[in-house]
Amino acid sequence: MNHPVPEQPTEVVARLRATFRTGRTQPVEWRTAQLRRLREMLTEKGADLAAALHADLGKSSTEAYRTEIDFTVREIDHTLDHLTDWLRPEPAPVPAHLGDDARAWTRYDPLGVVLVIAPWNYPVQLLLAPVVGALAAGNAVVAKPSELAPATSAALARLLPAYLDTDAVAVVEGGIPETTALLAERFDHIFYTGNGTVGRVVMRAAAEHLTPVALELGGKSPAFVDRDTDLGVVAGRLARGKFLNAGQTCVAPDYVLTDPRTAAALEPLLARAVEALYGSDPAASPEYGRIVNERHFDRLSGLLDSGRVVVGGTGDRTTKYLAPTVLADVDPASPVMREEIFGPILPIVTVPGLDEAIDFINDRDKPLALYVFTQSDETRRRIADDTSSGGLGYGLPLAHLTVSDLPFGGVGESGMGSYHGRYSIETFSHRKAVLDKPLS
Ligand code: NAD
Repeated sequence: MNHPVPEQPTEVVARLRATFRTGRTQPVEWRTAQLRRLREMLTEKGADLAAALHADLGKSSTEAYRTEIDFTVREIDHTLDHLTDWLRPEPAPVPAHLGDDARAWTRYDPLGVVLVIAPWNYPVQLLLAPVVGALAAGNAVVAKPSELAPATSAALARLLPAYLDTDAVAVVEGGIPETTALLAERFDHIFYTGNGTVGRVVMRAAAEHLTPVALELGGKSPAFVDRDTDLGVVAGRLARGKFLNAGQTCVAPDYVLTDPRTAAALEPLLARAVEALYGSDPAASPEYGRIVNERHFDRLSGLLDSGRVVVGGTGDRTTKYLAPTVLADVDPASPVMREEIFGPILPIVTVPGLDEAIDFINDRDKPLALYVFTQSDETRRRIADDTSSGGLGYGLPLAHLTVSDLPFGGVGESGMGSYHGRYSIETFSHRKAVLDKPLS
């Protein structure tokens, strides 16, 4: 359908709701057809999306495919492989007082019209992976890309309607005014990814309509490094996880927590790991990304004097290049430790040992991810039992979110609700209780 005059949010939602009420999005065939079309879009127009990601974030094509386009294709494939199983009604035992002939089960009902609001840092993956779940669960969807990744937002607004059922899927572009207008509408679910301040705005707006929300937020994700580990391996994995997308990853290791002796040993190894990844001049590496805008560049530059520079520490505002940076001797009260960094700065904070590390983590907001590098089973167990975080990664940052059978989401200040694979079906469905007592 062509709309010469942009539709108002009220019209968009009414149109999608009308489609939903016809039952068109219910059959599994419609759902899988939409997912296949989305897959076609990603394979046929992957180059367009990669170019937009490069324009917005300096993402290399390799990174664009690995972390956004192919990532979403895998999520689609996994969903197509298992959707029928996931949707199967689940029988429940019936108590004796209802008689032998009574039966009970649960079934997944779609919720209706879902709003997905995405951020700029993985602007393809973080819009489309929730859309995959919402469609797979049989909903109509309004997708709102981030205005801070304008090339990607424009590409998605152009491509999605060309591939998907436009009576059931709409893209609304824009920033705060447009999102505020959308949030005034009644949705059946709102799936928001971004920061906690806006998360509160979303939840307040949702409360007006008693609309359920998933809030995929961020925060400072610590990486605890035990003294007994192979620090060369640890440094390589930390650097790779931290400096991907120039550190603008919600589950990037935000800071390293370790004892002073291990910190000293780790410093030169981290510097070496950065060079192994991006060469001696990361500004010239096609694999190294850029900061999204001047505002974030200035914010990050202001954090550089929170410690002694081990490697990096330089930048260029005109190209929004900020070197992969490691800071040592960082005071826990310094600016870099007071907010989520969300950029290529890795502070090392020292604590005497495991007990103090656990206290350090528990004294702060519950992180989205917590990483632990240790050979000790006891340390692994202590961290798992004594801390709370959205996800827990032993030995490898970021990787848990690539496991489609694991729920991805935060806890406390890092968010609520989860998605990926079957957890998306849980999020975007109502699990309806059904009791059947035959009349004769
Ligand atoms: P952003 O500025 O792109 O905002 C996200 C979305 O919120 C955008 O679509 C934007 O238009 C909308 N928005 C902004 N202000 C609004 C307002 N006042 N009212 C209504 N809508 C508004 O992205 P961001 O928040 O800077 O993203 C970075 C944060 O997101 C970090 O904290 C990061 O950790 C977190 N994050 C979390 C995940 C996750 O999966 N948990 C993934 C990526 C990023």
